[in-house]
Amino acid sequence: MKALVYNGPRDVSVETVPDPTIERPTDVLVRITDTNICGSDLHMYEGRTDMEPGRILGHENQGVVIEIGDGVDRIKVGDHVCVPFNVACGFCRNCDSGLPNACLTVAPGRAGGGYGYADMGPFSGGQAELLRVPYGDYNCLRLPADDAEEKANDYVMLADIWPTGYHAVELSKFMPGESIVIFGAGPVGLLSAYTAVLRGATQVMVVDRHPDRLRLAESIGAIPIDDSKGPPVEQVMEITKGRQADRGVDAVGYQAHEPDGHEQPEMVMNNLVQSVRATGGLGIIGVYVPRDPKAATEDAKHGAIDFDFGMAWSKAQTIGTGQTPVKRYNRHLRDLIHVGRAHPSFIVSHELPLTEAPNAYEHFDRRDDGWTKVVLKPAA
Ligand SMILES: [Zn+2]
Ligand SMILES: [Zn+2]
Repeated sequence: MKALVYNGPRDVSVETVPDPTIERPTDVLVRITDTNICGSDLHMYEGRTDMEPGRILGHENQGVVIEIGDGVDRIKVGDHVCVPFNVACGFCRNCDSGLPNACLTVAPGRAGGGYGYADMGPFSGGQAELLRVPYGDYNCLRLPADDAEEKANDYVMLADIWPTGYHAVELSKFMPGESIVIFGAGPVGLLSAYTAVLRGATQVMVVDRHPDRLRLAESIGAIPIDDSKGPPVEQVMEITKGRQADRGVDAVGYQAHEPDGHEQPEMVMNNLVQSVRATGGLGIIGVYVPRDPKAATEDAKHGAIDFDFGMAWSKAQTIGTGQTPVKRYNRHLRDLIHVGRAHPSFIVSHELPLTEAPNAYEHFDRRDDGWTKVVLKPAA
């Protein structure tokens, strides 16, 4: 089959590789119809992880089941399925508690597995024609046959970024009638904003510096804040008339940088502490890593950042962190799409064949204007 292979920093190519096969009776084989390029793929693309050359990228995957193992009961050949980026067993202590993001059995030595991702187990990614899904009954979300194709670009957002955007809002302990400030208007930040709008926020403020992303934020009823035009904390103060936001989301992560490019991994966390009110909540969904060999400072190489914990503590803010348990949300969010109440595909800027993936990575990595979200279509 054809697949997008990671060769090294800013070097990916479409190669012919062996087809995946059913390796265990609980496996499902999916012919990929839709697979997104994610902002977190860029950490690997840029060489900011321990990703091994030769691996296939892609953790936001959707397609049609073409083969099932003998031990698969629920999923059938021909089903349209969206596959959560978490690879999880469904039977360990954490999966049992509704936290498949921290599955204890699939990736030896760590909590949580993922497709085509650094330090998340041996699983191949789905930016390819075929994908092997372990524990298929548990991991596949079935899509309604009557609109799976028509709404493919909406449903594929259930693999990661809409549940992730939703989880960020949950981590902040947001309640209807509150305000929220979201740092980062990439796909996750935009879908955090979309979630907050759907769930009845009074004010949704979105901080970014790219006009195309800020326009999308505005298009769903959020207030755009351009941090290249002035300190974002001051802008939040002005918009909230000095009250600060009730809740805040970090949808940027450890590669946070000033508008001039100067990297400062703690910048968004500290801006959140300042722009969220005392006893408010912070949802930290942007990726932070325990090892970052290319970091700007010695501390940051070991995941240590200069976080203003004193201010966060004295404001009695709550802080929620970590990857998303996609399965906690994807069924409900799928049904909102199915009945026409939600259209998360508003962020999609490009639908491209797999052969265009290397070029798409280049544009997305440069944050080129208009490249807000790429959906690859390997089966097209
Ligand atoms: Zn993703
Ligand atoms: Zn598990």
